[in-house]
Amino acid sequence: MILVWVDHVDGTPDVLSLEALTFARGLANSSGVPLQAVVVGADAMADRLGAFGVQRVHSVWDERLADFAPAAWAQSVVDAIGASDARTVVAAGSDRGNEVMAHVAAKTELAFAANCIEVEPGDDYVVTRLRWGGSLLEEARLSGSVKLLTVAPHALQPEEAPTPSQPVVNQVARTLSEVDLRVRVTGREAPEGGRVSLADARVVVGGGRGVGSAEGFRSLDELAALLGGAVGVSRAVTSLGWRPHAEQIGQTGMRIAPDLYIACGISGAIQHIVGCKAAKKILAINTDREAPILAHADYAVIGDLHTVVPALTAEIRRLSQT
Ligand code: FAD
Repeated sequence: MILVWVDHVDGTPDVLSLEALTFARGLANSSGVPLQAVVVGADAMADRLGAFGVQRVHSVWDERLADFAPAAWAQSVVDAIGASDARTVVAAGSDRGNEVMAHVAAKTELAFAANCIEVEPGDDYVVTRLRWGGSLLEEARLSGSVKLLTVAPHALQPEEAPTPSQPVVNQVARTLSEVDLRVRVTGREAPEGGRVSLADARVVVGGGRGVGSAEGFRSLDELAALLGGAVGVSRAVTSLGWRPHAEQIGQTGMRIAPDLYIACGISGAIQHIVGCKAAKKILAINTDREAPILAHADYAVIGDLHTVVPALTAEIRRLSQT
């Protein structure tokens, strides 16, 4: 049986978990085994998970599990493994997914393969996984009585099952200790001025060293606000202290998948590209027609961003008023 740990935002499965479910359903079908899920700290979301072919949902509830607590959530996944006959546990390769599964691996002393894009089932699994932010594909052998793996973000699209299931919900008895709750979310702060979060934005306006200064971001902030989007930056910008690390896109920052990424004054180093390559369209604005970002861009404007961005903003304003 394959068990998928489904992460959620306010009781709705997150999109990377739906990708993991789709991936796990393919694996369950090719191995001829059932697909089940575990949900920690939320409603079992049975209808939604049934649409993805889940036949049984293991629900672990305790009010102390309602917000992110990596070791405690991992203990709940371990409890669900004990309550089921799971031989494989799959989760999303998000920061949270990889952290929780690393705790599961440590607690159970099982091997764990993170960020897989392919799995060949067998006594041992042969997995292909993304390393070094996607610049290397590694083939590895995963052994153990229960195989633990996460699915690389955006390796596939979430897809509902051709025939939905009506999952049975099983309440799992939890074994939570205070030690497991040492790390947990105790409060949240909304982004300033109700801004859209970088992770969810459908349009991201990215700024690199070419922006020239912290003040230079004013026109990017304006364009992002006009498009209902968010600003993201390269590491050069966070290293220079122009913007906070929370806005960094890339290997050591956030992975984004907006409909449109407008990269302004960003050269397109591989460590940046791994964070934005899931964008549906990329528009690059750069003075250098040889900049590597152009090889990844769908559209490009060769020019000074301090001229191009205000012109773009003015034209969008004009069009939205006509
Ligand atoms: P630059 O490479 O200096 O590029 C500036 C660009 O702006 C140039 O293309 C230039 O032509 C253009 N430009 C200049 N002036 C203008 C103008 N007026 N108008 C338009 N265009 C202009 N980087 C990340 O971004 N994210 C990461 O997560 C990350 N992780 C890393 C991890 C490791 C282990 C390492 C070694 C590096 C990492 N980096 C990361 C750094 C990365 O290698 C690059 O150094 C960085 O992305 C460069 O940032 P940049 O494109 O803003 O600056």
